[in-house]
Amino acid sequence: MKFNDLGLEPGLLSAVADRGYDTPTPIQVEAIPPVLAGRDLLGGAQTGTGKTAAFVLPLLQILRAAAGRAPRVLILAPTRELAAQILESIRTYGVRKNLRALVIFGGVGEQPQIDKLRSGCDILVATPGRLLDLANRGFVDFSQVKHLVLDEADRMLDMGFIHDIKRIIKLLPAQRQNLMFSATYTPDIRVLASRILKNPVQVEVTPPNSTVDRVVQRAFRVAKDDKRHLLVHLFQNGANGEGRWHQALVFTRTKHGANRLSEQLERAGIRSAAIHGNKSQAARTRALADFKAGKLTALVATEVASRGLDIRELPQVVNYDMPHVPEDYVHRIGRTARAGNDGHAVSLVSEDETSLLRDIERTMRQAVPFAPTPAFARTVHAEPVQRMEHASPARRAAKPTRHFRPRRAS
Ligand code: AMP
Repeated sequence: MKFNDLGLEPGLLSAVADRGYDTPTPIQVEAIPPVLAGRDLLGGAQTGTGKTAAFVLPLLQILRAAAGRAPRVLILAPTRELAAQILESIRTYGVRKNLRALVIFGGVGEQPQIDKLRSGCDILVATPGRLLDLANRGFVDFSQVKHLVLDEADRMLDMGFIHDIKRIIKLLPAQRQNLMFSATYTPDIRVLASRILKNPVQVEVTPPNSTVDRVVQRAFRVAKDDKRHLLVHLFQNGANGEGRWHQALVFTRTKHGANRLSEQLERAGIRSAAIHGNKSQAARTRALADFKAGKLTALVATEVASRGLDIRELPQVVNYDMPHVPEDYVHRIGRTARAGNDGHAVSLVSEDETSLLRDIERTMRQAVPFAPTPAFARTVHAEPVQRMEHASPARRAAKPTRHFRPRRAS
């Protein structure tokens, strides 16, 4: 199957070819023709499957050219990062089209967004909170919306956006095409789908609640206090003599934990930045750009900040803290092994997290094998270097590097 076989117009085919893609992914093969035909769609697809192009390409074709000031396509996404990436895809695939796209999300000044809404757009990409806020104050004209996309619907529900989504939908014209994408099918997702979608085509590219096939998953048993030392060892040496890690996305549970770990990695000579909800949008964008450009070796992220991150050729994902919700594990490891590349996911599991790993395995119906924990040195000290410099010589001398050789995992 080639892109030519999907009914896409020449301008879009050229844009896809410019991007270097010649074979559509399974979700693109199955979704593009029915979306072009105007059908509603329920897409079971994780990030990394090419789902963005699966809805962006046909919608660009349906819209033809710029018209009026009110948006005709509304795309809702859970996070700023995902919304920004969808806009990027629209720009990439729509280069030969005269269409105006606009993105709206919280955490940045609203006036520029209000000004852009006033000057008009054909496609509006938004996170639900900011969109509803601006809509309630009369800045958004929904009267022309003919196509609605809910991307990563499961994440939007997890993040508590259900009420905002329902309110937004009430503001839209009843006659419209609805597309909904979700990596997992929880009962809540089914209810939302049955409310919104009319006689949808169902497309599923990975079985529900299963993980990305190409990710090699491993777990290491390690005491909580030793996780940072093991992680530094992994960055410097790899897991089993495979050589140092080029780059990794590291997940922590809390914002504070992300900051602290990022500082600890920096002190160990590993270029690192943290991204989470307390960071300004500018700081998050910069960290992501630096990571993508290879200026950073580690990007330490909380769950929410990671949603929708599209980092091509990301070889490693690390669960520094195990997620409490099994589906989050699937989302986290879905950041690697994207679009045909292989990927690795490493979980650092402390004693009290063993049951979390068991829940994850049960949900995925797949085992995450424990590998022998590599021998690592305790090299990263908890306190900043500056404080160490002020410490008395006696105290400094009392901080030798201890070597630790764990027992082989059973
Ligand atoms: P997505 O699942 O939409 O987040 O896409 C994941 C990655 O796959 C993005 O970097 C896309 O640019 C890329 N991609 C999308 N379609 C294709 C394709 N047909 N062939 C190869 N890569 C693709």
